[in-house]
Amino acid sequence: MDFIKIKAKAKINLSLDVKAKRPDGYHDVCMVMQSIALHDVVYVEKAGRGLEVTCNNPKIPVGSGNIAYRAAQIMTEKYGIDDGIKITIDKRIPVAAGLAGGSTDAAAVLKGINTLFSLGLAQYELMDIGKSIGADVPFCIKGGTVLAEGIGEILTELVPLPEVSIVLVTPKIDVSTAWVYNNLDLNAIKSRPDTCVIINAIEKRDIDMLAKNMVNVLETVTVSKYRIIEEIKNRLVSLGAAGSIMSGSGPSVFGVFTDAKKAENAYDEMKDDRWDCFLTHAE
Ligand code: ATP
Repeated sequence: MDFIKIKAKAKINLSLDVKAKRPDGYHDVCMVMQSIALHDVVYVEKAGRGLEVTCNNPKIPVGSGNIAYRAAQIMTEKYGIDDGIKITIDKRIPVAAGLAGGSTDAAAVLKGINTLFSLGLAQYELMDIGKSIGADVPFCIKGGTVLAEGIGEILTELVPLPEVSIVLVTPKIDVSTAWVYNNLDLNAIKSRPDTCVIINAIEKRDIDMLAKNMVNVLETVTVSKYRIIEEIKNRLVSLGAAGSIMSGSGPSVFGVFTDAKKAENAYDEMKDDRWDCFLTHAE
């Protein structure tokens, strides 16, 4: 086998709480993460010499600035791989949008190289390597419905989410993750997610209860500066979403729908030049 094609799925946060700022500058978080059907396609192939990354989105760096390149570099050094590797990313996930678009490409490259070079690494070993690349990479290797703690790397698998439709809206604004965390005032957070209630709702397959309890504390930073986030949340709820919050550090917002028809209608109604809109589902 000289070539492998991998679906690199995006993620959303069904809840996101920040517990504390650590001395190393990172934050301790507690969040429920969910992989969704929206994905990049990552091709990993044995070719030529050295590493090469190409991407159809010109905004994304192609050399060592690309997180997928770094993933490949770590694998080739650690396992003494001499063959050249070419990585081609068909980018469909909005960039810098709170959807782990980069982390999921890195996860796909780790999985792809493991298969292509018959390294025989178990999932937990890949996740361990992923941790050194980025906090969200281990989750992207695992996928599904997961409780993430620590800086996001301590993962506990939850029961899979029942069938729900998700309308995802990404405003065309740049929100830096570093800016969001730097401006987060932990003492100013009034509403925090009750993660036990969220997990309980997932176990009971009660989507209404889940959706009504979704909270992302990072909205305390983004919503005051970017009113468009609040506008999208309100519109999704008025179009029938059982609940709507921002994903990660934003600016993406999603609505959870128990009724697929209402989700389709909301997707049609939400079309607007100010944002990208996707009709997707948990996967
Ligand atoms: P997270 O939810 O993990 O915070 P994000 O979805 O907000 O991630 P990304 O899409 O991963 O953000 O992009 C963050 C930055 O990483 C971008 O500015 C981009 O230029 C850079 N980057 C490097 N490699 C990639 C990649 N393969 N895909 C997307 N962005 C990448």
